[in-house]
Amino acid sequence: MNHSVAGKEELQELRKDFVILSHNYQIPEIQDAADFVGDSLGLCRAAAKVDKPYILFCGVDFMAESAAMLNPDKTVVVPDFNARCPMAAMLPAKKLREAKEKHPDAAVVLYINTLAEARAEADILCTSANAVTIVNSIEEDKILFGPDKNLAWHVSRYTDKEIIPVPYYGHCRTHVFIKKEHVLEAKKKYPEAEVLIHPECYPEVQLLADYICSTEQMIKRAKESDAREFIIGTEVGLLHRLKKENPGKKFYAVLDKAICITMKKNTWDKFILALKEKKNVVKVDPVIAEKAREALDRMLETSSSKPPLGPVPVKLGEDIEGTERH
Ligand code: SF4
Repeated sequence: MNHSVAGKEELQELRKDFVILSHNYQIPEIQDAADFVGDSLGLCRAAAKVDKPYILFCGVDFMAESAAMLNPDKTVVVPDFNARCPMAAMLPAKKLREAKEKHPDAAVVLYINTLAEARAEADILCTSANAVTIVNSIEEDKILFGPDKNLAWHVSRYTDKEIIPVPYYGHCRTHVFIKKEHVLEAKKKYPEAEVLIHPECYPEVQLLADYICSTEQMIKRAKESDAREFIIGTEVGLLHRLKKENPGKKFYAVLDKAICITMKKNTWDKFILALKEKKNVVKVDPVIAEKAREALDRMLETSSSKPPLGPVPVKLGEDIEGTERH
């Protein structure tokens, strides 16, 4: 831990009114200081159980909005307001309303990586861990799914429903850095390693996986698998936790440059400042929050009764049409 800004005792004093939540992609110092480290769904659940007046949310904008919506009586603070997910920004509410007008018979399932205004237009949310379960749990046969077209592609392979990506180009700027060639190279270098790939990666990358996993499913798979080595296709921040929780195993990032710049805006100095000043308070318009919360609550309810699948073994042998690069 970096003690240049705050020593151990000072940190203890500063954090006494806070529950600190950190996404798996945060810098190691923040992950180590957090009360809870996890993925979007895990953090949503942790935020809902919080028993302190403040939440310090170390992740990106849409995640902090979820925490604020689930905890209207708590103050949610972030280290940096500029930690905004570009994928979430790709689906403004207006664009979703246009798609709904075009497909009035479709249900709307949105990846949790969306902002409150778009969520207010959704029937239900999902995460990368539970997307397949959520889509298969709803009645409609036609689904508007946004904003990640690569996750939409993954879901479409595990359901009979018609999946319409909205927008057609939605993607994570970090995961699309990972190309097929990078995985092939890693597999050549580490032939014994099990390959775990995040569903925000391109389809052609997903097809090279042993398992398609959300970050939390990667943690689970790494613990349960008999393999001693793993090739990891996601943002490199996850490797800190994988190594920490599995000291006898080896983890190799498919691509060291798969770094989410926006997640890394939350530096240790800003983290300490946020605890000291309690200034960057996340606010969501109450009318929008109420509507958006319904979709979030529906996801949490469905997830409790229908737990997500474990890591999904990759399905091979299908074409990958319509998966052009950005
Ligand atoms: S990793 Fe991708 S989806 Fe996650 S916050 Fe960064 S840009 Fe958004």
